[in-house]
Amino acid sequence: MSILVTGGAGYIGSHTCVELLDAGFEVIVVDNFSNSKSVVLNRIESITGKPLKLYAIDLLHREALEGVFEVNAIEAVIHLAGLKAVGESVDNPLWYYKNNITGTLNLLEIMNKYKVNKMVFSSSATVYGASSSVPNSEDSPLKANNPYGRSKLMIEEILGDLYRSNPDWYISILRYFNPVGAHESGRIGEDPHGIPNNLMPHISRVAVGRSDRLSIFGSDYDTPDGTGVRDYIHVVDLAKGHLKALEKINRVSGINYYNLGTGRGHSVLEVIKMFESVTGRNIPYSLTNRRPGDIDKCYADPTKAKVELDWVARKTLSDMCRDAWRWQKNNPNGYEG
Ligand code: NAD
Ligand code: UDP
Repeated sequence: MSILVTGGAGYIGSHTCVELLDAGFEVIVVDNFSNSKSVVLNRIESITGKPLKLYAIDLLHREALEGVFEVNAIEAVIHLAGLKAVGESVDNPLWYYKNNITGTLNLLEIMNKYKVNKMVFSSSATVYGASSSVPNSEDSPLKANNPYGRSKLMIEEILGDLYRSNPDWYISILRYFNPVGAHESGRIGEDPHGIPNNLMPHISRVAVGRSDRLSIFGSDYDTPDGTGVRDYIHVVDLAKGHLKALEKINRVSGINYYNLGTGRGHSVLEVIKMFESVTGRNIPYSLTNRRPGDIDKCYADPTKAKVELDWVARKTLSDMCRDAWRWQKNNPNGYEG
């Protein structure tokens, strides 16, 4: 029996594959490499010493996807494949809805046909939107502010309707907070195309000399030092959360929603200071205007994942900075090098 990981060549998917292989699962990856490179899979195999099966397939290519289910005994699907850049989703919403929603519908219809009824789905804290108060618990009000977030919310609703139509589904929806860091081998990590949108890859690129300085987006937020606060979570802790979710859906049917975060918020300035102290690199920065659409603070109440999944985030902000830097230093040009 195998676990199908869609988007398994991506940042979170690659770390999840490592944890699955280390735990003894057989892993099948489906990825179209729209935001990843196939060399990632060689690195996963070399870290774990175990092989995985790859299908270079787009979820929109239904027949090809069905072929994967025809020839493999798939027990459960961890569904990470999706487009994730907020700005891009605002500029090109139809592309985002088609890729994320039609891709998911294809997958679910094929799963239904082949009686594979266990899914772990990658959602996001973005579904809590700007309005709710922190910390966010799973029953905080939901309101996404952009097409990317709405695609996540729509998929959550589709999965809810699916479960209500057939209670024999086993579904775990994971709402990630801010994944950062890299595997401690320094061999896999986050490799954004072009200029990174997110804070940690941007800091790492400044540290390695690929960017001159960091712009801090807003210093007048209602936070202790005026810069934005987020719940950064080490990607390996996050990957381990998928295994806990898998254990749960192997035991009980139902649909469940879990926040995967540390429960602690850190400001942009705190992250910069920690990165500087762990790595000894100087990170020049400028205080600039707020980024449109940003919120002041966002962090998780992760109690439900602790109680129901026996999962807690163990790694600290210092671990996150150290591992992000090791990855960046060893791979200054990402996977291109
Ligand atoms: P990523 O871009 O590194 O990985 C996504 C992978 O999916 C890529 O390898 C991409 O090539 C693949 N993919 C995209 N569309 C596909 C399609 N139609 N068919 C086949 N493969 C396809 O992103 P990530 O950071 O690893 O995120 C994984 C998931 O987690 C995404 O669904 C994302 O929305 C969600 N998420 C990410 C974050 C974050 O900050 N990284 C936060 C919350 C949620
Ligand atoms: N941020 C910043 N400069 C950057 C990138 C991000 O100041 O180059 C800030 C951003 O305004 C937010 C925090 O860092 O307060 C985290 O941003 P990121 O894009 O990583 O996550 P998100 O805002 O999507 O939670």
